[in-house]
Amino acid sequence: MKIICIGRNYVEHARELNNPLPQEPVFFMKPDTALIIRNRPFFYPDFTSDLHYEGELVLKICKNGRHIAEKFAHTYYDEIGFGIDFTARDLQQQQKQKGLPWEIAKAFDGAAPLGAFLPADSFEDVGNIPFRLTLNGETVQDGNSSLMIFSFDKIISYISRFVSLKMGDLIYTGTPAGVGPVKIGDTLEGYIAGQRLLRCMIK
Ligand code: MG
Repeated sequence: MKIICIGRNYVEHARELNNPLPQEPVFFMKPDTALIIRNRPFFYPDFTSDLHYEGELVLKICKNGRHIAEKFAHTYYDEIGFGIDFTARDLQQQQKQKGLPWEIAKAFDGAAPLGAFLPADSFEDVGNIPFRLTLNGETVQDGNSSLMIFSFDKIISYISRFVSLKMGDLIYTGTPAGVGPVKIGDTLEGYIAGQRLLRCMIK
């Protein structure tokens, strides 16, 4: 399986990092070694001193496809969960300035904690899913899929023009405003529609 992540998919988040709004989805990948499951802890890596959380809705792909038309894209995922796109912001800034790829800032071991999933058909409208991330019990990100620049269907259709999707692949759909640093001892928790689906301790 592979992990595909969308960047700059929320207007306020693009603004908080002084990034231009994209005309088309921006995506990058993480390897499967980035996953942290079952609420296992994350160990703060030694190569960064500015590790940021990015709470995101995650789609789980349920069938193989390529060149997927937007109108059929909703049939290619059947579960929606909560994940964190951990980012070494200091390394990412360096890479961006040099015009180099982001992997060292985004794809490292443990950079993709993944929580529990909810069935996609349990949502009345996938274009209106509230989600939030708390840091030590305080809400730091409060998002809604209605605020995405590119919808789930648009994202799936766009990615599949370039990269075939396979059953079990994960799509991290971008983070809303409110990203920030974590330190050792912090606890992050992710909620969708009031249900806690992820807990991640920083060690
Ligand atoms: Mg992200």
